[in-house]
Amino acid sequence: MTGHYDVLIIGAGLSGIGAAWRLREALPGTTFAVLEARDAIGGTWDLFRYPGVRSDSDMITLGYPFRPWRGAESIASGDRIRDYIRRTADDGGITPHIRFRARVTAASWSSADARWTVSLADGTELTCGFLYACTGYYAYDRGHEPEFAGVADFAGRLVHPQSWPSDLDHRGRRVVVIGSGATAVTLVPAMSRDAAHVTMLQRSPSYLLPLPRRDLIGRPARRVLPAALADRLSHGVYAGLTQRLYEAARRHPRATRAALRAAAVAFLRDRASVDAHFTPAYDPWDQRLCVIPGGDLYREIRAGRASVVTGHIDRFVPEGVRLRSGQVLEADVVVSATGLRLRPIGGVRLTVDGEPVSIGDRVAYRGMMLGGVPNLAFCMGYVNVSWTLRADLCHRYVCRLLEHLDRHGLAVAIPDDPGEAARPLIELSSGYVRRALDLFPRQGDRDPWRVGQDYRRDARTVPRADVTERMTFRPARERGRTMSEHSARRRPRPGPYRFAGRTAVLTGAAGGIGEHLARGLAARGSHLVLVDVDDARLAALAERIRAEFPGPAVRTIVADLADRDAVDGVAARVRAEHPAIGLLINNAGIALGGRFDQVTVAEFETVMNVNFRAPMLLTHALLPALTAEPGGHLVNVSSLFGLIAPAGHSAYAASKFALRGLSQVLHSELAHLGVGVTTAHPGGVRTRIAERALIGSGVPADEVEAGRRQFAALLRYPPERAAERILRAVARRRARLLIGADAAVPDLLARLLPNGHARVMHALTSAAAARAQRRPHGHRA
Ligand SMILES: Cc1cc2nc3c(=O)[nH]c(=O)nc-3n(C[C@H](O)[C@H](O)[C@H](O)COP(=O)(O)OP(=O)(O)OC[C@H]3O[C@@H](n4cnc5c(N)ncnc54)[C@H](O)[C@@H]3O)c2cc1C
Repeated sequence: MTGHYDVLIIGAGLSGIGAAWRLREALPGTTFAVLEARDAIGGTWDLFRYPGVRSDSDMITLGYPFRPWRGAESIASGDRIRDYIRRTADDGGITPHIRFRARVTAASWSSADARWTVSLADGTELTCGFLYACTGYYAYDRGHEPEFAGVADFAGRLVHPQSWPSDLDHRGRRVVVIGSGATAVTLVPAMSRDAAHVTMLQRSPSYLLPLPRRDLIGRPARRVLPAALADRLSHGVYAGLTQRLYEAARRHPRATRAALRAAAVAFLRDRASVDAHFTPAYDPWDQRLCVIPGGDLYREIRAGRASVVTGHIDRFVPEGVRLRSGQVLEADVVVSATGLRLRPIGGVRLTVDGEPVSIGDRVAYRGMMLGGVPNLAFCMGYVNVSWTLRADLCHRYVCRLLEHLDRHGLAVAIPDDPGEAARPLIELSSGYVRRALDLFPRQGDRDPWRVGQDYRRDARTVPRADVTERMTFRPARERGRTMSEHSARRRPRPGPYRFAGRTAVLTGAAGGIGEHLARGLAARGSHLVLVDVDDARLAALAERIRAEFPGPAVRTIVADLADRDAVDGVAARVRAEHPAIGLLINNAGIALGGRFDQVTVAEFETVMNVNFRAPMLLTHALLPALTAEPGGHLVNVSSLFGLIAPAGHSAYAASKFALRGLSQVLHSELAHLGVGVTTAHPGGVRTRIAERALIGSGVPADEVEAGRRQFAALLRYPPERAAERILRAVARRRARLLIGADAAVPDLLARLLPNGHARVMHALTSAAAARAQRRPHGHRA
């Protein structure tokens, strides 16, 4: 994999997908890729697979503001969050832009070239104008694993939540969970339901906040308000409430302590136990507060299925864990929920003009860029409220900065470094944070280097923050191109279409123009996905092409494009097998003979479905694949009847006019994405369309054959020439192609005689059909 991108995003977790969405939304022509070390979307929510894994903040604010979470529960399970992120990536056309198994190891900035060179673990190098690290905040390879004495003596199994073994069966077993953080308080009630007993072994207590599991605001609001309004309302309420709770806790620690203690006593009905195990020495929010949905942990303890022990581990012994007090906790399974190993910017080694960047020595600019480091941003969420509330502000800020560069013909943005700054970026006293503080940039005590945990303030100020404040810009030439020229490149006029090595998807492939298009594409080195309803003809064609052109891959999909599910199936299969395609040719079409009053609505609809709905659906679904790599192209075969509408062809003309309209709109709309669109209008091409045409059920039987013969007599243009002309039009990116005099003359007539052309055309076609029917068959070949 090589190439240059305007923006490279590292990480396909919650943040990376959100960043890509915002980038596509704000700067649709920007070329970008998402580099993901793993082979899955979802980050945290794909990695962690321990029992009960769930969010501990509400999904209304952990979800994306542009795609509201509408689940019944506000606290959601890991797999539902993973699905939500994946679906967002699919629906936002982001998935084809993700490069999986692409672990970034280093990034080096060259001021001369005004670009980053990004190195992957497999040795590949990519370049980009701007680098955005959405890598989360911890190391993925393993969590924090303190060394316990005697682990080798332990007869049971020791496991870590970050690499949960899929074969672990804890049913009926005695489990000890070491830790008291979010992971431990999730694991204990999830395991205690089927374990023999679960003991949470903590060195010191944490604050626990019982919250309702269900969404008590959005769901009821949606019953009485329009969904969009209800979504905004509940997002505002949840964000406001959680932020205010945090502020109240910081301002009134004693009252907050008392409230949390009262909740614990209400659930456990055991003051001594609350004092011993649920009363931390620090103030609320000095360390992260852990949510327990519906008070589940307390309920399990009260039911006797779980218990808490506070003490220090002395060593592991064969039967379990021995504490310094001498007590032995017997266990078959010990889970070491001892936390994460924090790591900034995904462990990527940064250099600027050959000088290594020590991230820990830098000051964070607005908590998302590094002082003195050009064209680099990193995404960090909040620690006190949902991560996404801040992540989304970061994405939108980065987009505004990129827009500013674009608009002003600039290439480089370097945040000023204020020099001394002593405050840590993450102001929590938890062990896992303290262990890694030196690795993270610091923050200053004034804007724009201060990083508050204050969503209410940031939501007001960040979207309006001046992107030029304490920022140095350079209009550096980028490999001989200024940034204005560069932005012109973002709205490119696509160059000649390159067929070789790219995948072309072609409908109606098994006969007529389609068959010759398929051969012509294979001859030019395109890989083929051929779609047709005629199984036997399609298979035979594929065989012939494979024999004649051994290079390109030829795949076939048998589908009836009148059937919506079948069209969706074609799209899904193409997208799964070909994240990037070069060319989509909507060629399939059927005709329907008979006056409008002689055809049924169902017959009319069948024609509309094949000729218009299927191309519309396929184009819509395959657009992400078509734009995944620069220079894609779309062809819609709209026929002569997309130019004129003769009597007797209401459905055919209606469908082909609709297709022409869509195609012409797409020609304008897709230009900024660098996708070319050709609308082709073949005249009377000698295909099997007349012989395969449907005939309206109200057409008298004795008129059917005559009608068919008359239609067929008008089809004289050789299909192989029509196919060749279409492929040449694709190569040249022609917007409109009239094939044969049969298309050019009616087109001219329709322009000259907008009302009278139908009569003239009728006279001309009747005469031509009569002449053609008098001619012997061979003459037409
Ligand atoms: C168990 C758990 C529960 C949590 N619950 C909540 C919660 O309820 N609410 C909340 O607000 N926050 C929570 N968090 C914090 C959580 O991490 C964020 O909410 C959010 O998922 C972060 O998303 P992200 O995309 O920024 O990072 P991640 O989810 O960590 O994703 C980062 C992605 O970047 C990739 N990556 C990293 N380095 C590289 C590299 N060098 N090259 C290529 N790819 C790389 C990773 O493979 C990963 O896919 C939780 C964290 C954990 C561990």
